[in-house]
Amino acid sequence: MTQTPSPRPFHHPQPGSALHCGKVSLETLARRYGTPLYVYSAEQIAERLNLFQQALAGRSHLVCYAVKANSALAILKLLADRGAGFDIVSGGELERVLAAAPEAAGRVVFSGVGKTAAEIDLALTAGILEFNVESEAELALLAARARKLKRSARFALRVNPDVFADTHPYISTGLREHKFGIDIRQALGIYKSAAGNRWLEAHGVSVHIGSQIRSAQPFGKAMERVGKLVAQLKHEGIELKCVDAGGGLGIDYHGGAFDAAAKVAEYAAAIQGALANFDGRLLIEPGRFLVAQAGALVARVLTVKRNGKKTFVITDAAMNDLIRPALYQAHHEIVPVRPRPGRPRVVDVVGPVCESGDFFARDRKLAHVEPGDLVALLDAGAYGMAQSSNYNTRMRPAEVLVEGARARLIRRRETMADLLAPEIL
Ligand SMILES: *Cc1c(COP(=O)(O)O)cnc(C)c1O
Repeated sequence: MTQTPSPRPFHHPQPGSALHCGKVSLETLARRYGTPLYVYSAEQIAERLNLFQQALAGRSHLVCYAVKANSALAILKLLADRGAGFDIVSGGELERVLAAAPEAAGRVVFSGVGKTAAEIDLALTAGILEFNVESEAELALLAARARKLKRSARFALRVNPDVFADTHPYISTGLREHKFGIDIRQALGIYKSAAGNRWLEAHGVSVHIGSQIRSAQPFGKAMERVGKLVAQLKHEGIELKCVDAGGGLGIDYHGGAFDAAAKVAEYAAAIQGALANFDGRLLIEPGRFLVAQAGALVARVLTVKRNGKKTFVITDAAMNDLIRPALYQAHHEIVPVRPRPGRPRVVDVVGPVCESGDFFARDRKLAHVEPGDLVALLDAGAYGMAQSSNYNTRMRPAEVLVEGARARLIRRRETMADLLAPEIL
C-alpha cells in the first residue's frame, strides 16, 4: 500500500494567517494555555507509525516506540491503540506504559545499561516481551530475579556490532568503545552458557547503533552482522524468535522537503534485506522519527535587545524547556506564528536562563519579530519535553495534543506548588 505524504502538520492555511497545527491556530492555543507551550499533532504521529507498520507488513513485526523520546501518557496511549509496542529504558517508563495502556505490557522491550533488581522485578511481574540485556552481569542478575519470582525471563542480548554511524558523538552508540551492548564476538558464548539456566529463555538479539542517523546504510550493515550471529546460533541449536533492529532513524531539522515514506521504505529495505534468512519477528524501536516533526514549542518574544553588533531575541522559552541546541548543537527552525512585514534580521534567539548556553539559535536569519509576538520552534516533539527540567526554578510547559479540529490539554503547566512539593524545610 502506498501513501501520499501529507503536508507538514504546522502550516499557514492562508497567506498571512497564523501558523496552525492541523486545523487549530497556535494563537488560539497560546491564548488558551499560555506559553511556552508544546503542541503535538496526533495525526502525524499516527501516520508515522503507520509508515513503519506498512513497510514491515509482509512479515511478523512489532514497532516498539522508544518512550524516552516523548513519554506523554496521551501519546503512549495513541500509539498503543494503534498496535505499537514500547522500548523502555527504566522502571519509570514501564510505569508510564502501564498507566497509559496496561494491555500493552506484553509488547514492551526493556533496554538500558544499568537495570536495578527492583526494575527487573517490576518488568518480570508485568510480563514484558523481552529484556534487552547489555552485560553478562546483567544477565546473571536477571536470572537471579527470575528464579526468585519464579517467572522465566525472555532475554535478548544487545550486541554491539561495531558499526560507525555518522551522527553527533553524544548519540552514537554502536562502536566497541561505547558503553552500550555486548561485543558481538562474545555473544555466541554467552547465549550458550545461558542455555543451561531454566529461568532464562534466549528469545532474541538486539542492536541500537545511535540516533539521528540519516542514511540507511549503517542499519543494513549492523543487521548483516546480527544476521550472521542468528545463523550461527541456529546452527548451535539456539533458535531466536525476535531480532530487534533498534531505533535511530533520523529526520530533517532544516525544514527542507522531507519524504518520510521514502525514508522508511529505504530503512525497512536495508534491515529486511540483511535478514532474508530469518523468519521470526522483526522488532524496531523508533523514537524521534515518530514524534519529532509532530511537535512544536510555542514561545512568546519578551524582548528584542541589542548588545554592540548583536541582536538578541529573548523568548519566554529557555534551555530548560528544550535543551537540544545547548546539548547537541542541534538546529531547530524558528518561525513567527503570524508573519509581519519587515526585513529579516540576523539574531541570536535565547531564553531567560542564566547560562550563555541558553540559546535556541545563533547568528540566524530570522523573520522580523517584535516583543509580544509568538514564535514556533519546529520539530521539537522528540527529546524536547522529555529532557526538560526545572532549572532556574522554571515551571515546565503545558502540552497540547491536536486531533483534527480539536485540541486537548494532555499536561497542565506546572505550578510553584508542584515544584515545592518534594522539598523539606
Ligand atoms: C534512544 C533509543 C532508541 C530511540 O532512538 P531514536 O533515535 O529516537 O529513534 C531506541 N532504542 C534504544 C535502545 C534507545 O536507547
